[in-house]
Amino acid sequence: MFEFTMTAEQLKLRDEARDFARSIPREYILDMDADKIKYPKEFLQEAGRRNLIGLRVPQEYGGRGLKWEDDIIALEEICVNGYIFGCTYGVTGDVVTEALVHFGTEEQKKKYLPPICKAEKFAAECLTEPRGGSDFFGSTTIATQDGDDFILNGQKRFIVGGEGCDYFLVYAKSNPEGGPTNSMTCFMVEREMGVKTEYLYGLMGCRGGGTARVVFENVRVPKENVIGTVNGAFPIFYQMMIPERFGTAAMTIGAARPALEIATDYSTKRKAFGKTINQFEGVSFKIAEAVTKLDSCRALMYATAKAVDSGADSALCRRLVSEGKKFVTEQCWDVANLSMQVMGGIGYTDVYPVEKILRDLRLSMIWVGSNEIMSLITQHEWYTERRKELKNLTKRVSEYDSVSAFAEDEKIYE
Ligand SMILES: Cc1cc2nc3c(=O)[nH]c(=O)nc-3n(C[C@H](O)[C@H](O)[C@H](O)COP(=O)(O)OP(=O)(O)OC[C@H]3O[C@@H](n4cnc5c(N)ncnc54)[C@H](O)[C@@H]3O)c2cc1C
Repeated sequence: MFEFTMTAEQLKLRDEARDFARSIPREYILDMDADKIKYPKEFLQEAGRRNLIGLRVPQEYGGRGLKWEDDIIALEEICVNGYIFGCTYGVTGDVVTEALVHFGTEEQKKKYLPPICKAEKFAAECLTEPRGGSDFFGSTTIATQDGDDFILNGQKRFIVGGEGCDYFLVYAKSNPEGGPTNSMTCFMVEREMGVKTEYLYGLMGCRGGGTARVVFENVRVPKENVIGTVNGAFPIFYQMMIPERFGTAAMTIGAARPALEIATDYSTKRKAFGKTINQFEGVSFKIAEAVTKLDSCRALMYATAKAVDSGADSALCRRLVSEGKKFVTEQCWDVANLSMQVMGGIGYTDVYPVEKILRDLRLSMIWVGSNEIMSLITQHEWYTERRKELKNLTKRVSEYDSVSAFAEDEKIYE
């Protein structure tokens, strides 16, 4: 933790989140991993009771009106119990609320935000379909206008909270002839409107989060439940990249941290060749590497939070959250993997939770947009930035700082 960067209020929030995470019994964590708990309502209800859901939601709608710089501190702590705790907590309180806060009408905000923040109701986000997740705009879930309503037909797959949630933020194709910017509409759909879920997935990790197939068969949704404008899901999708990807990255740090702590402690007790294993550089350097990885992740997270909170250019924010999601999730995977190596054979058993942490963390590189898609966005935004820089010529042109820089007959590009 970077305590030295935190204000007194942030330290208090950190401690509140820590206290909340510690209040969850170990049996609850084990029952989720064993799929005995389908969706962690009790965990979320306790978070709601402590007013820890919707930290960035304005206070008038039940949140705390905080910023990303605060939110990521809580996200790290809450995920210490396991990645799926952060997934369910983040989807309802950080992701679905983001769409409502930024694009919802006053009526929608008043109706949906307070019960989500109090954890009287839970929300899920539905983008991925059986036909694919990366090609989001290829959606085959269709919304057909019928008078003042829309009729939704289609299926969404791998939806965290599909089992257990009351509200579904759903993206559907409302203008099949249109392109990415004008073909999709975003809806707030209530389970009572006829949403069916099939609890299908046997997951490698991250169990107990209600990850389900969600089915829409002639689900009638009133037009009052359109978020933003009809055929106007494009800017919502862009905005949502921030809570989906940035939130995920912050959570991942918290989920990986216990592996490092457990391995560190183990290495000071376990002996080989008459010494505790931390006295071998082969071991302690792995710990050093893992510490460095976690700290560099936090540094990138904290800088990105500043960018987003200060209203930096949206393309820059998209690049930072995309590169951050990929970087952090890969570093955290390494942290868990290095920790397992330090533990030797016992790390591969269920005597310690390191194997569970490793199983859980694998998801982080796949969901909310795979890491390949993160690279796709990062390179796209970076090339665009560089083109602008070259046009404005505001920087030194480093290309000419070499002896034969003007050998024009060598600078042949085609
Ligand atoms: C446990 C779990 C929980 C999830 N929770 C949710 C949720 O709550 N809501 C939700 O909507 N979704 C959720 N997802 C879905 C997740 O976001 C998708 O699985 C992910 O976006 C990838 O989509 P896909 O599985 O269809 O893979 P595909 O899109 O089929 O991709 C397959 C592979 O091809 C690569 N690929 C695809 N296109 C490109 C490209 N242009 N360039 C380079 N590589 C490419 C991908 O990176 C990937 O490696 C969840 C998934 C899991 C497993």
